[in-house]
Amino acid sequence: MDWRTHDIFNQIPEHSNYNLLASDVALTEALDRTAAWSSEQLTAFGGRLGREETFALADAANRNPPILNAFDARGHRIDSVEFHPAWHAVLGMYREEGLVSLPFREQRPGRWPAWAAGFYMHAQIEYGTLCPATMTQASIPLLQKEPALWEALREKLFSDRYDPSDVPIAKKSSIWLGMGMTEKQGGSDVRANTTVAVPVGKGGRGGEYRLRGHKWFFSAPMCDAHLVVARAVDTDSYACFYVPRFRPDDSKNAVLVQRLKDKIGNRSNSSGEVEFQDAYGLLMGEEGRGIATIIEMATYTRLNCVLGSAALLRQALVQALSYARQRRAFGKKLIEHGLMRAVLVDLALESEAALALGMRLAEAFEQQDADDRHLAWKRIMTPAAKFWVCKRSVELTGEAMEVLGGNGYVDQGIVARLFKEAPVNSIWEGSGNVMCLDVVRALSREARLVEALISDLTEMSDGCSILTGELSHLVKLIRLNPEMLESSARILSQQLVLIAQGCLLHRYSTPEISDAFIRTRLDDRRSGRVAGAIDVTNVNVDAVLSRALAM
Ligand SMILES: Cc1cc2nc3c(=O)[nH]c(=O)nc-3n(C[C@H](O)[C@H](O)[C@H](O)COP(=O)(O)OP(=O)(O)OC[C@H]3O[C@@H](n4cnc5c(N)ncnc54)[C@H](O)[C@@H]3O)c2cc1C
Repeated sequence: MDWRTHDIFNQIPEHSNYNLLASDVALTEALDRTAAWSSEQLTAFGGRLGREETFALADAANRNPPILNAFDARGHRIDSVEFHPAWHAVLGMYREEGLVSLPFREQRPGRWPAWAAGFYMHAQIEYGTLCPATMTQASIPLLQKEPALWEALREKLFSDRYDPSDVPIAKKSSIWLGMGMTEKQGGSDVRANTTVAVPVGKGGRGGEYRLRGHKWFFSAPMCDAHLVVARAVDTDSYACFYVPRFRPDDSKNAVLVQRLKDKIGNRSNSSGEVEFQDAYGLLMGEEGRGIATIIEMATYTRLNCVLGSAALLRQALVQALSYARQRRAFGKKLIEHGLMRAVLVDLALESEAALALGMRLAEAFEQQDADDRHLAWKRIMTPAAKFWVCKRSVELTGEAMEVLGGNGYVDQGIVARLFKEAPVNSIWEGSGNVMCLDVVRALSREARLVEALISDLTEMSDGCSILTGELSHLVKLIRLNPEMLESSARILSQQLVLIAQGCLLHRYSTPEISDAFIRTRLDDRRSGRVAGAIDVTNVNVDAVLSRALAM
């Protein structure tokens, strides 16, 4: 008997077996402009990432989250985190590509954009692995200021060998670092930390301390060391401590992992809760400057959040476009329906603008010492971008999911994973309001940088009356008195980002993209409350959509 009830047709497979760099015109152009030397290696990486097998590894790493083994079989405390082999395979790819420390190890101009492109591509396939990678990278500029530690760790931080072994640092070829700030009673308000550090001997910079207290969020607890904020009792001030997993005598440090968080997304990554029972630590940075020290680390991790969210948005767009190009409804392909075209154009514009901003910030990080313009982008635009791009990806990964209809909502798929991953970026490393308040703080305290940013944007907006008009309006808003700035910090950050993105597209992208972006984001006041609510009458939809994904 023939049990078959129907033929399956018009079901579209997920987009895979493609090259993430070659298919991305905007990314290719950005790299050609800033780091052409890296294109060959990154194209090969983009090919490996896009393989169906790599997507399968990402899926497996998220479907089999890490497990905490707090004790061994005989009851000894080991606090070890066990990962699925797929985690090691994917994280190993990133390390072996040399991306963890690239911007600090490489000397050639364009090292930050080259790294940003690699990070952006990896993040599209598997984002959880980039948590320890990001924290390790961001610890480097802090460790570089501590000569003895830097001497001991430099080679292992710069190494591109993947070494997941859980042994003292001296026995490892490469290492991972994490960060610990957030406690139960307060995360954003780091000054609410109750963990204390007592000096052993005279204390002071580089000196030994014992830490007692806890961290409520402590991602990647298997890292070889964490940079931890605690209150130094000798100076009664907050300080940053280097807390390794093993003490100098090779015994395990007293950092007890109480539990791993059960998270909505970011499932491949381990985020723990820990207690310090007189844990060994070394004081980093100036005494009393602990919060400033750890915030410097967070400035770097915030850039990664921007690029990571741009990446989630990009991959959601890729899957949505590929689906819409093949799936048929009401007698034609989804992409041929006028209203769907408006949605896809909106996603494509947002995605390219997010990438442009992330790449500009990467350039700014590289050239922050060169002149005030770059420093201004780093200082003012990083928190603004972290606020805006991370929030946009939460909404727009959901919109991309809907392009796939019911298939999008099924947890077996890539888009579902992107959707569940997106909110974390908006929360960790400083959540939305905290970012906007940081923008306002920079605007009210860093007059020189504000002027540098305004003059850079003015120069870039050249020839576009909408941009120049919006910019002068924004300048007026910035010059309001500071008390008024706080309550309008979200409006201000939003406008700042939209103008900056408009300027970047105006300078670097095609007229079709920049005109459509500027008109729909900054001119037509009816646009933009939800994706696709834009007037595309004067938009070259074919040009925008074919640029978005070369197939
Ligand atoms: C998956 C995951 C992993 C993490 N990993 C780590 C880690 O490894 N290390 C680490 O230290 N932390 C980590 N965190 C913690 C994260 O950084 C904090 O959750 C975050 O900084 C917010 O702190 P909180 O949760 O205490 O929220 P709160 O500080 O209580 O904030 C709650 C809300 O109030 C808002 N808010 C706060 N202050 C103001 C204000 N002045 N004005 C207006 N609004 C305000 C915030 O924007 C937020 O929306 C992780 C978080 C997650 C979700």
